[in-house]
Amino acid sequence: MPLIIITGFPTSGKTTRAKQLHTYLTERIKQASSSATNPKYRLHLISDQTLSISRSVYDLSALPAHTRSANASEKDARASIYGAVKRVLSDKDIVILDGLNYIKGWRYQLFCEAKAVRTPSCVLQVGCSKEKSREVNEERLARRPEKEEGSAITDDKTDEGGAYAPESWENLVFRYEEPNAMTRWDSPLFTLIWEDGEEQTKQVFDGLWEAIAGEARKQVKPNQATVQRSRDAGGDYLYNLDRETQDIVKQILDQQSDEGGDEIRISKGHGNDEDLVVELPAGKKVGLPQLQRLRRAFMGLNRGGIGLELVGSMGPGRIRESFVGYLNDAFEKEG
Ligand code: ADP
Ligand code: MG
Repeated sequence: MPLIIITGFPTSGKTTRAKQLHTYLTERIKQASSSATNPKYRLHLISDQTLSISRSVYDLSALPAHTRSANASEKDARASIYGAVKRVLSDKDIVILDGLNYIKGWRYQLFCEAKAVRTPSCVLQVGCSKEKSREVNEERLARRPEKEEGSAITDDKTDEGGAYAPESWENLVFRYEEPNAMTRWDSPLFTLIWEDGEEQTKQVFDGLWEAIAGEARKQVKPNQATVQRSRDAGGDYLYNLDRETQDIVKQILDQQSDEGGDEIRISKGHGNDEDLVVELPAGKKVGLPQLQRLRRAFMGLNRGGIGLELVGSMGPGRIRESFVGYLNDAFEKEG
């Protein structure tokens, strides 16, 4: 089946999440398969390490500029990653691509590749602050064996604990193109942040499984885990985010007509008598899968994480307003 593109800053915890996801999916696949000898999906984990790509390929300064363009080695690396993904990707193969995947155009290419083999793709963003990721890189640099002092990086290409040269690290963060859940190629977008514990991680992985392999895209009720996590993430924010967006999805489904193009009035709620209006695209009904996809994307954008610190403070009314605005934008683009 599908392609899961992991993205995030260098040394932000991507490989850690990739491995957790691998363990999780191994179990899910086992459950979904009729027998151990006939698994429903094959699972693959592809990363720089599995392909023996050294971190130095991301090093712009170390290259002889007169013979090769500045990032030729990085391009070569991408070509081999692309080849590796292409070789295995099919409707029966789940590929976890663990890597920086920081270039928008690159993620777009991968999305097209998945589309070409008629299999879904999704993005898992590993959110970690710049400061924390830098700290991890610096710790790794400090742990380097003595003899390599001064050399750019460790040269063991399969070393997951390898560090990036500091300039290279800064440069990658500078060039990082954050995924945008409004675009086809970055959606559905899932987010895990450094602090996310087992419960939250499982919840995100459940959502991810639903998106890539789920038969029935049921509405996922917020469970205890959401409530718990939200306590340290600013009151009931995530719980509210989930509930308010679910409610709006439900109201659209309940109120729309068969012809499409409706203007759905939704109360702003919470003591506010103002109405919000969703303008549906003309000529067709919108389905639950589409609405859930948009809802997930909206949640991905608004649940916090890198570069999104401020959004965690929206109250329920503001969440409703913001989600309605988001839906209108999405429908307008489409129409
Ligand atoms: P990347 O693949 O992005 O370079 P890694 O997954 O190798 O990052 O993680 C970098 C370091 O941070 C590792 O030492 C790992 O054990 C630690 N780490 C990663 N994610 C977390 C987390 N969520 N909580 C605590 N430590 C983490
Ligand atoms: Mg890694």
